[in-house]
Amino acid sequence: KGTLYLVPTPIGNLEDMTFRAVKTLKNVDLIAAEDTRNTQKLLNHFEIDTKQISFHEHNTQQRLPQLLEKLQSGQSIAQVSDAGMPSISDPGKELVAACISADIPVVPLPGPNAGLTALIASGIEPQPFLFYGFLPRKKSEQRQALQNLKNETATMIFYESPFRIEDTLQNMAQVFESKRQVVVARELTKKFEEFIRSDLGSINEELTQHVLKGEFVLIVAGADGEMAPVQLSDAQIIAAIQAEID
Ligand code: SAM
Repeated sequence: KGTLYLVPTPIGNLEDMTFRAVKTLKNVDLIAAEDTRNTQKLLNHFEIDTKQISFHEHNTQQRLPQLLEKLQSGQSIAQVSDAGMPSISDPGKELVAACISADIPVVPLPGPNAGLTALIASGIEPQPFLFYGFLPRKKSEQRQALQNLKNETATMIFYESPFRIEDTLQNMAQVFESKRQVVVARELTKKFEEFIRSDLGSINEELTQHVLKGEFVLIVAGADGEMAPVQLSDAQIIAAIQAEID
């Protein structure tokens, strides 16, 4: 039997491709890509000439038996999405489940992911966290989803498109408490990377000062999830100043 490798790809900065990801994409028999044209650019950059097959949400059911057959016959396959980790708000989970059922080894590679990258620099309590991904687009469904999260104490990670970000934040401000901390992380790993840190009551006002283009992650504190401000004693501050002088 072959092996299914799950290979994360950069979320904007090609230098975030790992050595192991390049090596794996070179060594497998086939790459199952969400968008083969998009992945071809990555393959060209890293001089990888492995053959690709498209694998996305619209052809999953048709592709699953074909990919399983190849794996059963000993071929190894790397699955990639357009950016970041496969299966995380991206295609992949059905193939993973099918491989597990068929006793085909599944090997995940660590690598870029927008949600965790935003979380670690947010300044909001990183644990526990709930990765939500995309909220429903329709207003009534989105509000219902937010209602269901109202008492969630974990920090929440959402993906959102630039066209809906203000509406979504407004809905959050109305459903959650407006004093909750929120961080809008824009264009992570890219030239215009930016973190806008505020609370739900003021974030939209704050956003009027910023360009709302590109890709966004929203990090929202959980219910009563305020992180205690860092308190330094006078003695610690004096010691730090003293250390600078010495
Ligand atoms: N599989 C990806 C991952 O592991 O993060 C997520 C793919 S999902 C289809 C795309 C969404 O991820 C975007 O709409 C945005 O919310 C977020 N995203 C991806 N790249 C980003 C970046 N460079 N900066 C901010 N958000 C990003």
